[in-house]
Amino acid sequence: MTSERTHALAGADQAFLWHPFTQMNDWLSDDPLIIEAADGFDLIDTEGRRYLDGVSSLWVSVHGHRVPEIDAAIREQLDRVAHSTLLGLGGVPSIELAERLVALAPAGIQKVFFSEAGAAAVEVALKMAFGYWQHRGVTTKRTFLALEDAYHGDTLGAVSVGGMELFHAAYRPLLFDVFRVPSPYVSDEASLQRAEEILRDNADEICAFVIEPLVQGAAGMLTAPAGYLRRVRELCDRYDVLLICDEVATGIGRTGTFFACEQEDVSPDILVCGKGLSGGYLPIAATMTTQAVFDAFLAPYEDFHTFFHGHTYTGNALACAAALANLDLMEQRDTVAGVREREAVLAKLLEPLRDHRCVFEIRQRGLMVGIDLRAHGDVFFDPSERIGHRMILEARKRGVIMRPLSDVVVLMPPLAIPIDRLEQLAAVTTESIEAVLG
Ligand code: PMP
Repeated sequence: MTSERTHALAGADQAFLWHPFTQMNDWLSDDPLIIEAADGFDLIDTEGRRYLDGVSSLWVSVHGHRVPEIDAAIREQLDRVAHSTLLGLGGVPSIELAERLVALAPAGIQKVFFSEAGAAAVEVALKMAFGYWQHRGVTTKRTFLALEDAYHGDTLGAVSVGGMELFHAAYRPLLFDVFRVPSPYVSDEASLQRAEEILRDNADEICAFVIEPLVQGAAGMLTAPAGYLRRVRELCDRYDVLLICDEVATGIGRTGTFFACEQEDVSPDILVCGKGLSGGYLPIAATMTTQAVFDAFLAPYEDFHTFFHGHTYTGNALACAAALANLDLMEQRDTVAGVREREAVLAKLLEPLRDHRCVFEIRQRGLMVGIDLRAHGDVFFDPSERIGHRMILEARKRGVIMRPLSDVVVLMPPLAIPIDRLEQLAAVTTESIEAVLG
């Protein structure tokens, strides 16, 4: 029995909202689950039921919800100013956050440009790379090199460098062309060989190689073999092409180092992060780059080399204050070392699932896990069976919120999840897969 209030809210949701990445036909025929509060690692619905936040509220939560230190930092900032513009003005928390991010980033990264979403930060990266070459007079470099199965967000530039047919096919006429190489998940050698061929013949047309380092997240947590990113960096250097690392999903500790590219000792020319930056509190993303890229935009005003880009809420003070408090806590608690411990614990807990006949593969880097469910062998389920969706409904019944990528079950717990909650996540995952697939 649901309460009258929940019933009314559900009716209003279905009357007025359009949910992202959701077939609204299905949404309108189901009873929506409506969250109204949270406590630590739990989300609480309008009926007072608690659920473990198994995907960190779409890959963003770091220390859980209602973290006293982050709550206090936002309240303190609220008593000063919620927002003032960075267009022509400085703002205290954005200055402090930029300095902090440069200290955390790989050597060579010197400048930070803020936006509010990963996709926007990717657009900024593409335009910075493009402008860098144009302003230096290398006007033939007008396109990008990107991976198949890449995901960089849903705005049109990000979709153009993205490589997921399912999401992007319908919008093809709106997109610009890019050079594309196979995903390193399929074969790192084939990917590198093709990249080298393309660069050898076309480097004069390519501004940058865009890549999600270590894990292609939205494609289903497709992991790249060790050494791949390093070799991509070498190719970019050899052929004079910038390297853009999109760490919106992998950054801020998610893979067991603060940035994933540290694991291969790689410093990109442009580094993008978002998601966990504010600990899962407020929308903020950052595009960071080198002095060289920054310098290419310096010129007398009338040359119009200014970086003509900026969103209204860029560097929002509340979001920056939340991010600073999140980074303070991560430092005090050594959250990133904690990710490596939890990575090992979770891998062990999921080990028995590898023997399940429908588990094709479990892919994991840090606290980023994809359990790839297949009908048999490497044969996919028919999409109409909605295996991933059915599995997460089972998990919900057992008190865990999840969100699959087709039939890849995603486990993305908050970075600081306690070990007993990690055990709960693994147990419910196993039971839910068994409930759907036997
Ligand atoms: N890049 C990557 C690698 C992502 O995983 C995502 C989001 N999942 C984005 C960009 C887009 O970020 P946002 O949803 O904040 O626009």
